[in-house]
Amino acid sequence: MPRPIQAAIHTDALRHNLARMRQAAPDARVWAIVKADAYGHGIERAFEGLRGADGFALLDLHEAERVRALGWRGPILLLEGAFEARDLELCSRLSLWHVVHCQEQIDMLAVHKTHTPHRVFLKLNSGMNRLGFAPHRFRAAWARLDALPQVDEISLVTHFSDADTPRGVADALRVFGQATSDLPGERSLANSAAVLRHGHDAAVRADWIRPGIAVYGSAPDFPQHDAAHWQLEPTMTLASRVIGLQQLAVGDTVGYGSSFTADAPMRVGIVACGYADGYPRLCPTGTPVLVNGLRTRTVGRVSMDMIAVDLAPVPEAGIGSEVTLWGRAASGAVLPIDEVASAASTVGYELMCALAPRVPVVVA
Ligand SMILES: *Cc1c(COP(=O)(O)O)cnc(C)c1O
Repeated sequence: MPRPIQAAIHTDALRHNLARMRQAAPDARVWAIVKADAYGHGIERAFEGLRGADGFALLDLHEAERVRALGWRGPILLLEGAFEARDLELCSRLSLWHVVHCQEQIDMLAVHKTHTPHRVFLKLNSGMNRLGFAPHRFRAAWARLDALPQVDEISLVTHFSDADTPRGVADALRVFGQATSDLPGERSLANSAAVLRHGHDAAVRADWIRPGIAVYGSAPDFPQHDAAHWQLEPTMTLASRVIGLQQLAVGDTVGYGSSFTADAPMRVGIVACGYADGYPRLCPTGTPVLVNGLRTRTVGRVSMDMIAVDLAPVPEAGIGSEVTLWGRAASGAVLPIDEVASAASTVGYELMCALAPRVPVVVA
């Protein structure tokens, strides 16, 4: 028997979450963001659940080739655009739309030889200060692109720094409005947090929304809101089994560094899951976990291949009992990935993306 750890990707949940985002922005088209191998889910595995999107957005050119290989003929957007001149040849060959965020990318386009002019998404830096043209340089960039025979249609795009925080999107929205007011073209601004928290504003929804994390069932603004609040369902379950049992007496410790000490007699289950599977090593004693669908906690340090869990709330548990590290148990009980991420001082995004290659994955 293989080691009993397994991840499952839930096609129905992907479909549900995508529909949820459409419902939040009914007048917009939807890019399903599938960068980072569909947030660790695997592009091929997530595709069936996401094929109802209007387009796929990503940033790795190999991932664009994989989406085309799945038979997708609709729009694909490269969120960081071309990294070097020859990337534009792939854009021409596979009809990829691409972001243009700097002068150098316009220079590359100006010398690119193509029979079919490209659709580009000109990016404004609205305050994130990562990629994009500063507001006072935006119009000149637009005019330069507009004059190129290699360019067909110009759309306008920006990315919010604070859609998930109390600071919000008002400043960025004003900057975007001022920089683009009399320019033609479709617009795309909103990530998951912007759609859910600010999607009541039509200027935020615009023509295309770009949800990632919400499609994968994680709340972009946890712990202020959880996935259930936003009616999102987990799309990834990490599950394993109890492979060992220990009976602790008062004063006994568990794991490396003896970081947990029993203050009463207790039964502990040893689970086949560790940081080499992508379970965060920083999860402290008390991180929530489900055993047979019932909520309990980890005890002691996470090691490479194992963690220990408190079996007090699950007296009938034994070797082989089901353990849900995050996602959905067989009983239907849910452990939100955001709770585990938060225990490790990180976000659901990071846990999904860090699912280790050694974990077998099934589509369920
Ligand atoms: C990753 C990304 C998104 C999706 O963000 P979420 O927070 O996962 O919804 C949208 N737009 C751009 C440019 C991105 O890089």
